[in-house]
Amino acid sequence: MQLEEYLDLMSSVSEFGMNAGLNTQDLYSKTLQNETLNLWVISVSHKTSLDNYGILYSPRDEYKPNFNRQLTLPVIPAPLEQIEKYKARALEVDAEYFCKKCIASGGKVELSSDFLKLSKVEQVEYALHEAFHATSKQFFGRKVEQLSFEYEEGSALIVGYLGAVNYFRNTNLAEDAERHWQKHFTLARKVNKFVGELEEIYAFRVGEDQRPVPQEQKLREKEELLKKARIELSDNLGTPINNAFFIYWHPFYCELEQMYDKVKNAKDFTEVVRRLTSFENW
Ligand SMILES: [Zn+2]
Repeated sequence: MQLEEYLDLMSSVSEFGMNAGLNTQDLYSKTLQNETLNLWVISVSHKTSLDNYGILYSPRDEYKPNFNRQLTLPVIPAPLEQIEKYKARALEVDAEYFCKKCIASGGKVELSSDFLKLSKVEQVEYALHEAFHATSKQFFGRKVEQLSFEYEEGSALIVGYLGAVNYFRNTNLAEDAERHWQKHFTLARKVNKFVGELEEIYAFRVGEDQRPVPQEQKLREKEELLKKARIELSDNLGTPINNAFFIYWHPFYCELEQMYDKVKNAKDFTEVVRRLTSFENW
């Protein structure tokens, strides 16, 4: 996609979002100053810490992911070489590691070569997702800090996917937008299902001998589950699929189904936005 095309698309998405009640002021950057947006989210744990950002890795033998978001989802600005160093360090200490590049952040779509490579449907989805973040900050003001990250992400994802479906309705990308939403909703539900099963594995249980199930058995069960997850999720959400993978995706997806329940019978996209920006609905 060329710059002109990107600017046209973003200005039309801005208008579409604004008409539905989203804050799209300052939604996108207009110049390609930063070739790439070097922001990364790295997940993981509490046994091995790594230099200045306090990035923490989960040892492979640890059977329970740590879902404490403050420790597990630092967004860091770093060049690719630095990220490669972190990966190498994780391997060195036999730690689990999952890392994903941010395409957009902080309620704004940065023009980058990565963003231009996305499909049109994805670009619209990202833009409306980020517009929701900007909107929730405006609506809830200081209260937003008390609101859960999980609720906000779940809502932003819904607004992005359903917004794209509505934006492309009656165009030649209508089916693509619908497929994009269905695909990701299915993946999210699978992630939630696997997290639920992991929680069951970790829960305190006693075996037939009335003794607590030993950690070795739980680790074996976890490995079985991860094998299944690797088949079902494939590389649609990034790899490797390990504790760190689930720690990354859990905060984004854990409230998604609940947020979708709140809007699935909305009469139009404006009502979707209205319901998700009403404090009582959170
Ligand atoms: Zn978000």
